Order: sequence, then structure tokens, then C-alpha cells
Amino acid sequence: MGKIILTGDRPTGKLHIGHYVGSLKRRVELQNSGEFDEIFIMIADAQALTDNADNPEKVRQNIIEVALDYLSCGLDPKKCTLFIQSQIPQLTELSFYYMNLVTVSRLQRNPTVKSEIAMRNFETSIPVGFFTYPISQAADITAFKATTVPVGEDQEPMIEQTREIVRKFNSIYGDALVEPDILLPDNKACLRLPGTDGKAKMSKSLGNCIYLSDTEEEVKKKVMSMYTDPNHIQVSDPGQVEGNTVFTYLDAFCKEGDFEKYLPDYKNLDELKDHYKRGGLGDVKVKRFLNSILQAELEPIRQRRKEYEANIPYVYQVLKEGSQKAEAVAAQTLQGVKEAMKINYFEDLDFIEEQARKYKGQE
Ligand code: ATP
Ligand code: MG
Repeated sequence: MGKIILTGDRPTGKLHIGHYVGSLKRRVELQNSGEFDEIFIMIADAQALTDNADNPEKVRQNIIEVALDYLSCGLDPKKCTLFIQSQIPQLTELSFYYMNLVTVSRLQRNPTVKSEIAMRNFETSIPVGFFTYPISQAADITAFKATTVPVGEDQEPMIEQTREIVRKFNSIYGDALVEPDILLPDNKACLRLPGTDGKAKMSKSLGNCIYLSDTEEEVKKKVMSMYTDPNHIQVSDPGQVEGNTVFTYLDAFCKEGDFEKYLPDYKNLDELKDHYKRGGLGDVKVKRFLNSILQAELEPIRQRRKEYEANIPYVYQVLKEGSQKAEAVAAQTLQGVKEAMKINYFEDLDFIEEQARKYKGQE
């Protein structure tokens, strides 16, 4: 069995640096590692509609934004299949059958969905589609027989739900589906990058993001006004690095060589943290350092984005061809699923013959 990746993003906004460290950067590395037989990257527009049903234009506009972010980060259509979820009808069909294998109370226990419901004030009016999106996510993953799903920590409950569905399906109908593994970022700070406001998660829906497509000035402005330690008022005050977003971002982004290049007074991040904790190190200096690191990481992405922005029809062509390929693969899986579930009436000629014999015998 091959090694196959499926992952994706909701087209609810441009992608931000949380997506980058949580998933996107890893995807590009995995793509270039040559270790995977197939890589499917999905723009999850149908899922985005589950909580944006009244705003189809938002979803439509953001398809291209996400695709541009993908290509500018280095996802290469020659090495991976980029596609749009709604264009693959087999995913909806699979979801419908998987719904029979999941209970309402199991869905209610999903901690990510719980917090997302609270965030959207959906408590008394959850759209059924939103409530069941973990099932549709199981369809997305299993349709491509994915073995590996590189995502951020918030997706852990979804992958667990998928694994349960696969086990239940295979135990009832026979082995037609593959149980996937989650691939989380190695770096703890990247599991769930906080927002610039210090909130637990940088999220398109919370408006606390640094976007991959932000200009140099926008990034700088956001970094300079980032949440730090509220008790670190004077430069001489001792400061806290835990829960200090600027340091969390440094944990996520700082690479070898960055100190030498941008802040040679310090050898490494531990030294910088120690100074901050002792007191005598101002937020502005640390923020300037973070800004230099982020700008260096984002500049080539911005440049490539400009190139693709000048060629939008090409980007749609990539998505169209990717969607065609993805549909062919999903159709094969669906055929296997229908066979396993014994709902492949017209293809099972032996069965038809057997029935014919049975009724002949009754004459
Ligand atoms: P929305 O608010 O619309 O749900 P989102 O910002 O949460 O948007 P998604 O499209 O739901 O983004 O998530 C896409 C991928 O990015 C997932 O793998 C998710 O785990 C990862 N991701 C999203 N936000 C972060 C974050 N702050 N840190 C690390 N990974 C993240
Ligand atoms: Mg999300």
C-alpha cells in the first residue's frame, strides 16, 4: 500500500502564518521529500459553506486566495493534486453512508466542534451540516485512501473520528477503507499558533492573523502591536516568556543563523529569554527581531504570489485538472465502498443470476 497524503483548508479567508507553521510548510517539505506516492490538497469549500451558508460569495472569492497561497508557498501541481471539494460529488455520497456509523452523542463530544459552536454563537441553532462536518471530513480523507494527514492540533478529534468510522465500516462491511494517521508539527509552538492578540488560536474567524499575503508594512505593524507580557511595563521589569506571544512566535519561526544575522548580541533563543526574564530587555527590541525573521520567511512567498496573481486563469486550470484527477480517485473508492455495502446492484451480475435462479425455482 502506498503512502498517501490528504489535507486542506477552508476558503474562509487568506491563509495566515498559523496555517503556514501548522500545516502548509510541512506539506511542502513532505512534497519535496519524495516519500509519498500521492499528495492531495483540498480547498474545502463545501465545509466552509456549513457555517457560511448565507455568504457564498465569501467562499467563492477565497478559493483563489487559498490557491494563490498554496502555490506561493511552494506546493507544486506537478507533485501534488490541488482540488476543490465541492467538485467531487463522491465525497457527499460517502458522507451520507458514514452518517449511519456515527451517533449524535459522539458528534456532540467533539471538543473542537464544541468550541467552534461556542465561537460562532451557534448553541441554539447549529446547522446540521456544520454539526456533521467531522463525518464529511472522514469522507474526504478516506476517499483518497490517505495514510497521513498533516494538520494542526485542532484537527486531532477529526482524525480520531475518521479512524473510528474506518474501523466500524471495515468491521461491518469488510476492509474497504484505510485508517489514517495524523501528522502534527514537531515544534510544540506550531501545534496551535496563538493570534497576535494573545488568544489561543490564530484564526481567520477571529481576525487576529498575520496573513501570508500581508505587505511588509502590514506585517511590521502587526508585530509591533502584538500582545506580550502585560506586566512587563518598564524595560527593567522582569518579563514572562510563557504565554508571551512574541516569544511563542520566535519558538515557531527562529532558525539557525537568525541571531547571527539580526541580533548578534545573543547566541540563541534561550539567552534572549533569560535576559527578558531577568529584566532589562524591552519588547520593542524583541519585536524588531521577530519582524526581521518573519519578513525573511514571507518575502519569497510574497514575490511568488505576485507572479501567480498575474496568471489567474492558470491557477484555475490547475484546480480544474486537480479536481478531475481527484474525482477519478474518489470514484474508485466509492465503487469499492458500494461493493462492500452490497449496493452495487447492477455491477454484480452473479447476484442477478442467482436471484433469477431462485425465482425460476419457485415457478
Ligand atoms: P476557520 O476559522 O475558518 O476555521 P482556520 O484559520 O481555523 O479557519 P482552517 O482552514 O480551519 O483554518 O484550518 C486549516 C489547517 O490549518 C488545519 O490543518 C489547521 O489545523 C491548521 N491551522 C489553522 N489555524 C492554525 C493555528 N493557529 N496554528 C496551527 N495550525 C493551524
Ligand atoms: Mg478551522
